[in-house]
Amino acid sequence: MGRVIGLVFDEEPKYVCPICGKAYKTAEGLEKHTAKEHSEENRNAEE
Ligand SMILES: [Zn+2]
Repeated sequence: MGRVIGLVFDEEPKYVCPICGKAYKTAEGLEKHTAKEHSEENRNAEE
């Protein structure tokens, strides 16, 4: 044993999408994700 197996995050993502749980390090990243993936104007795109 000498190595840690798994993902090591230097910085913990502080911006987590409340809808799908995807995490971002920047507010901009989360903002873009939310606008693109969870656009409020496209909420009726559910099948
Ligand atoms: Zn999301």
